[in-house]
Amino acid sequence: MVLRAMIPPIGKFIVSRLIDLAGERFGRLIAIKRVPWHARSARWLCKCDCGQETEAMSQALRLGKVKSCGCYRRDWARKHGGWGTLEHSSWRHMRARCLNPKHKNFRHYGGRGITICDRWNDFSMFLQDMGPTPREAWKGSSPLVSTCRLL
Ligand SMILES: [Zn+2]
Repeated sequence: MVLRAMIPPIGKFIVSRLIDLAGERFGRLIAIKRVPWHARSARWLCKCDCGQETEAMSQALRLGKVKSCGCYRRDWARKHGGWGTLEHSSWRHMRARCLNPKHKNFRHYGGRGITICDRWNDFSMFLQDMGPTPREAWKGSSPLVSTCRLL
């Protein structure tokens, strides 16, 4: 009896650990093989449609939290990377406030020692980190302020 009572949880544990995702597609990713990881969770090496390989947690894949090696956001940034987008003007203004002493608000930003990390000198990197600007946010307080405060 004791043994019977113990079997179900163990069985369940093993099943959840060993779900075979090999060959399954998750967005742009196709699971290739499990990689050594914490015993309680599975981590998978995945091949992305773009050709890159990446590792992702089994759970993240199955819940749809990971759908690419990161190229999805990079593609998004490239596609939306042109001048004239809200994000680009946000980035431009942020740089002006922090880098251009002639900017009327420079004293609140660059003048206070707020600088921009090298990574954010590249607009596509900025976009990748920040993601698309939620349009709603622009109606209220300026997202430029919070952008600079993150630095
Ligand atoms: Zn990719």
